[in-house]
Amino acid sequence: MTNLSNSLAAADVANVMHPNTNMRQHEITGPMVIARGEGIRVYDEQGKEYIEGLAGLWSVAVGFSEKRLADAAYKQMLKLPYYHTFTSKSHEPSIRLAEKLVEMTPENLTRVFFTSSGSEANDTIVKMVWFMNNALGRPQKKTFLARNKAYHGITVASGSLTGLPVNHRDFDLPAIPVRHLTCPHFYRFGLEGETEEAFTARLLAELEEVIAHEGAETIAAFIGEPLMSAGGVMPPPVGYWEGVEKICRKNDILLISDEVICGFGRLGTPFGCQKYGFTPDIMTVSKQITSSYMPLAAVIVSDPVYQAIADHSSVLGNFGHGFTASGHPVATAVGLENLAIIEERDLMGNAARMEPIFQAGLRAFADHPLVGEVRGTGLIGALELVAHKPTRRPFQKVGRVGALAAKIGHEEGLIFRAIGDQLALCPPMIVTEEDIREIMVRMDRTLARLTDAVAQEGLE
Ligand code: PMP
Repeated sequence: MTNLSNSLAAADVANVMHPNTNMRQHEITGPMVIARGEGIRVYDEQGKEYIEGLAGLWSVAVGFSEKRLADAAYKQMLKLPYYHTFTSKSHEPSIRLAEKLVEMTPENLTRVFFTSSGSEANDTIVKMVWFMNNALGRPQKKTFLARNKAYHGITVASGSLTGLPVNHRDFDLPAIPVRHLTCPHFYRFGLEGETEEAFTARLLAELEEVIAHEGAETIAAFIGEPLMSAGGVMPPPVGYWEGVEKICRKNDILLISDEVICGFGRLGTPFGCQKYGFTPDIMTVSKQITSSYMPLAAVIVSDPVYQAIADHSSVLGNFGHGFTASGHPVATAVGLENLAIIEERDLMGNAARMEPIFQAGLRAFADHPLVGEVRGTGLIGALELVAHKPTRRPFQKVGRVGALAAKIGHEEGLIFRAIGDQLALCPPMIVTEEDIREIMVRMDRTLARLTDAVAQEGLE
């Protein structure tokens, strides 16, 4: 754990600005310096072992010590460490990976645009959709529909699509035309006495009302994570995606599946849209594409979207968008090797096989007095902590108990993500039954100590 006398920690405090961190608090507590990784585990500077229960940031599918990815990067570095993909230049790893993504994703998705992060990918989508609608002579069709508590990134456009106040406040976001709809989380936003089906019907009615009110001719696209993840791991209510897809089709609104976390088997199906039975026009992937060994993301679009953009690039003489690292050869070479490992070791099948064990392990905490709801599917899940279980009343100061849980979790050797007072788990896809049992043992100890601490400090 943190030790400010350690010179690395002191240098961090002196020099680094951390993302998603309370900077003044950080000056006092310092960093948790992770020194190395092995399998599903990471080790800090003092050699303390932790199970990485969130796979880093929901992303390290193959674990933290996959030599084949290091070799793939090294080989590509020696052969062609960098080249770009502007002005028709290309290289083998990006060509092969695009081919692979088209083969893996739903049949209607046929063209790939590479970026380095999920945020850049979603910004790219916003610009592609605007470019397309200008090309199609409907310049008023520009508004995006997203959901409260969605997470789509933090750059100016993707951050606007995100529906979390902490990512908007004092950043002057949203800065693009976007309407955020009700978060489809039944436990929190279902009304007293409302069934899950009635909740879905209410959300779909809201979607239709917003479209009618704004005018379908102004709404360009609906973007959603199949299962909302960073906002708190919230699977959709029954029938939700089916209904959303129907309404989008009826109103000529593009459907975008942000699969940055759900993609490549996390939910036990290759992509989250397949789990929930909808077919997107555009998909965003990242994270597990390289197990985050290299930064990489991709936008995959349907043929009609591609054709409109391609036509317009011909009219204008250019598609004036792209990044220095679009399709970076080392990142795409690592992506190819990573996807090969996922296939060879059947890690998507492993996620499906481990799902009942993982979900049952989590659900064993359902009767715990601090746990209001246990939720999740595939290899992702969360425990929502509440102050008063029968009424679902949250803690007064949201996030304090969650942060305390994360701290105790660290002491118990388990890293999970505290999202407010929701404890999220999303282990590497290589987890075994034994690993899952160990995760649950450490979570159990964490909750036991947390219960004492909450009582002692009188938190409610
Ligand atoms: N979309 C989703 C669904 C995400 O979960 C994330 C990151 N957690 C992003 C987009 C943004 O990705 P990045 O952090 O790589 O910009």
